[in-house]
Amino acid sequence: MIVIMKNGAEKEEIQKVIEKLEKVGFSIHLSEGVERTIIGAVGDKSILNELGLEAMGGVERVVAIRHPYKMVSREVKSENTIIKIGNVEIGGSQIQVMAGPCAVESREQLFEVAQMVKDSGATILRGGAFKPRTSPYAFQGLEEEGLKLLAEARERTGLLIVTEVVDPRTIDMVSEYSDILQIGARNMQNFFLLKEVAKANKPVLLKRGLSSTIEEWLMAAEYIYAGGNHNVMFCERGIRTFETTTRNTLDLSAVSMVKQLSHLPVIVDPSHGTGVRSLVQPMSQAAIAAGADGLMIEVHPNPPEALCDGPQSLTPDQFSTLLSSVKDIARAVGRNL
Ligand code: PEP
Ligand code: MN
Repeated sequence: MIVIMKNGAEKEEIQKVIEKLEKVGFSIHLSEGVERTIIGAVGDKSILNELGLEAMGGVERVVAIRHPYKMVSREVKSENTIIKIGNVEIGGSQIQVMAGPCAVESREQLFEVAQMVKDSGATILRGGAFKPRTSPYAFQGLEEEGLKLLAEARERTGLLIVTEVVDPRTIDMVSEYSDILQIGARNMQNFFLLKEVAKANKPVLLKRGLSSTIEEWLMAAEYIYAGGNHNVMFCERGIRTFETTTRNTLDLSAVSMVKQLSHLPVIVDPSHGTGVRSLVQPMSQAAIAAGADGLMIEVHPNPPEALCDGPQSLTPDQFSTLLSSVKDIARAVGRNL
């Protein structure tokens, strides 16, 4: 069960609700977000009506939840969550596009691509500074130097920055230089990392694990939300199946499903989702038709030379063509871009 407190509820009002619930044996999980506090309570639901919680000061609503994920569920909040970062809104009528290289490789590479994706209509620059690679011999990222370049690109272009955090020890550092913390597919169930980003003062983009079910993905988001960070967005990036022609199988039914089950925004990454450059545009169009709130696309000034994920990276020109083609689809489903 979830008790949603009103925006601006007093500390004493929250405390009174907790005391009442604890007295009759409920165990409490408090989630204090920037805007509102949600009290999760596990215990005997049959006595709920007798408690009269809804009449208590500061209480907005009491909801019994069927799912194991609670705070991220639509049962708790029927309207879409809109994450506001500066003047960018994720989850509203505007589709947001995150674009940039797989990895930050150099000042020239990053600044060139940042300006080009901005000119085409992206609002958020992506680029990994800490790269979780399958091989220990592959390029591992420029680390803090890469983060500094991202922050400089933000200064120059006004684009927001999304970049991956792989280790709880670097959350403060990554937060200092970026606007959205990305949790990569390989870390979706790194629960210690999830609990730490829950304490960070930055929105989180949570990628779907390589072989994770929708429920596991929602539960991972629940860790972050319940830990007090209510600015969480999902990112579908393909899953492992028996198919090997594509790098992963982009699960677009998951996009519509998660939009039905949760109030949080959903982004689609057709670059990792397919691994095939020529599929990135058609899958971007399909993603928007399926209800995605945004796209994450890998773009490189010279894909054959990319240190990471060249075969799925678009040239800036291809990216620009993609965005024009997606605009029409967005309009057809009542969104804009
Ligand atoms: C990435 O976006 O840079 C990345 C590594 O993606 P994923 O975690 O989805 O593999
Ligand atoms: Mn990549």
